[in-house]
Amino acid sequence: DKVTTPPGFKEAYQNFAANGFIAMDVPATYGGSALPVSVTMGATEFFVGSCIAFSMYSGLTRGAGHLIETFGTEDLAQRFVPNMYSGKWGGTMCLTEPQAGSAVGDLTTSAVKEGDYYKIKGNKIFISSGDHDLTENIVHLVLARVEGDPAGTKGISLFVVPKFRVKEDGSLGEWNDVKTVNIEHKMGIKGSSTCTLSFGDNGNCIGYLLGEQRKGMAMMFQMMNEARIACGLQGAAASSAAYESALEYAKVRTQGGKTLIIDYPDVRRMLITMKAYTEGMRALLLYSAYLDDKENVEKDPATKEKYAGRLSLLTPVCKAYCTDMGFRVSELAMQVYGGYGYISEYPVEQYMRDIKISSIYEGTNGIQALDLIGRKIGQKNGEYFRELYEELNGFCGKQAAHPAFKDEVASVKKALDQVGQVTMKFAEWGMGGDILRPQLHAVNYLYNLGDTFVAYLLVDQAIVALAKLEEIWKSQGADNEEKKSKICTENDEARFLEGKVKSARFFVSSILPQVTARAKTILSEDLSALKVRF
Ligand SMILES: Cc1cc2nc3c(=O)[nH]c(=O)nc-3n(C[C@H](O)[C@H](O)[C@H](O)COP(=O)(O)OP(=O)(O)OC[C@H]3O[C@@H](n4cnc5c(N)ncnc54)[C@H](O)[C@@H]3O)c2cc1C
Repeated sequence: DKVTTPPGFKEAYQNFAANGFIAMDVPATYGGSALPVSVTMGATEFFVGSCIAFSMYSGLTRGAGHLIETFGTEDLAQRFVPNMYSGKWGGTMCLTEPQAGSAVGDLTTSAVKEGDYYKIKGNKIFISSGDHDLTENIVHLVLARVEGDPAGTKGISLFVVPKFRVKEDGSLGEWNDVKTVNIEHKMGIKGSSTCTLSFGDNGNCIGYLLGEQRKGMAMMFQMMNEARIACGLQGAAASSAAYESALEYAKVRTQGGKTLIIDYPDVRRMLITMKAYTEGMRALLLYSAYLDDKENVEKDPATKEKYAGRLSLLTPVCKAYCTDMGFRVSELAMQVYGGYGYISEYPVEQYMRDIKISSIYEGTNGIQALDLIGRKIGQKNGEYFRELYEELNGFCGKQAAHPAFKDEVASVKKALDQVGQVTMKFAEWGMGGDILRPQLHAVNYLYNLGDTFVAYLLVDQAIVALAKLEEIWKSQGADNEEKKSKICTENDEARFLEGKVKSARFFVSSILPQVTARAKTILSEDLSALKVRF
């Protein structure tokens, strides 16, 4: 029995690897390309948007390799990482067990020391890329508990467990007693294998400790945080692909005589909603990539920490906001298509199926929201949050009198104030010993922060776009609305810039008001959800 990927995946993977796309943003030490994260993210959106399932294999390999590179000994890194980055071997992350999903600390996979290595025993479920035919070996990063270590997350260690053992000279040795017991049949990302793996059924599975014993969770968070941003990118990429498909379709489909459906106001509403969300998510993710790059290049430890802190604050927002909104955008794409959208012959039903999992794995979006309110907002006594707040507040102050965008800026400021008000309320509830109410409203809070931040980024972009558009109009002597409109119809760059302005105005007028509604919900006294007898 073996796990076989769809036709074409193997050739595509070899090509992808040969072009150096697996490890674009990691150091060159073991074969990475050391490109900025922002550049990598721009490119990766295309790959992910083309096929989420395919991109899982390379994404997990890069993440696993980078984890070994960061925390492993020189010997361990040399033995595994170059072959992973080159595409010869794959990688996975093995956390989940039947009884330990969101609560990873409940895992029971065990590790017993035997000389230089550990004997691993246990079952992992839902392991993406857990087995496949794309590479000759697969390197699993397995969370397990060394016998005698404490229960919960503080007793967890991290192990490098190859499918086939690797000899001293780097060649492949015997099978390492890692058995694929099952592959899941699922709603989407069907080309990505989701495996149940049994480690050490025959007592012959060896693993190498990565980093320090009992520090497994902290190390795994490097891969998880990267994967959370990658999930957000899946949301943005699926949105982008779904939007582009729906737009193309709306331009050719007629209904009601010769009317193209793109000319119906309701279809236009759906299309601009998709466009605004997609551009907003992309901006949010590129902002996070910029923080990552700054953290990497800054020399001063305090400045480095500032960027790392802000990135960690925004990570749950990138993950949960972009995946939930990505799903909504893909749903709108189906609606634009009408009945054809529901039919497999057209691409959008696949985007919708594929993207749903991103709001579940890597910590469900509910868990992301709890991470945001329970850990991230209060990190370093709330300093990272305050700095973020000040960035937006500063922007609103600076642009308050902007001739073209003062209304939008005022709306962003209002939303920001409401985020601030709710944050204070959460702190008040928390200090009063009420932890259930913040938890009840955590997802709404995350959406509010996401909407407000995205609105800020879109308006900021629109201000730049309008200035450039005015230059084009001026250079072409467009001194009235008719001439300006003609330029925007005929000139691609002008149309793009005008589209940026429209995205921002639409987002602020039609999506941002949800912040007020959610804030009202959060601050209401209604506790029915907690009290209802189901
Ligand atoms: C296709 C696919 C691929 C996957 N790939 C991997 C992989 O590569 N590696 C890996 O290790 N795992 C993987 N997973 C597992 C995935 O990460 C888990 O399914 C996910 O973390 C949720 O765990 P669970 O399914 O046990 O749900 P549960 O933890 O049972 O959650 C069920 C519901 O309860 C909520 N909930 C749980 N705890 C809390 C809480 N404390 N507060 C509030 N709400 C809570 C959740 O938000 C959710 O809505 C994959 C899963 C799938 C389906």
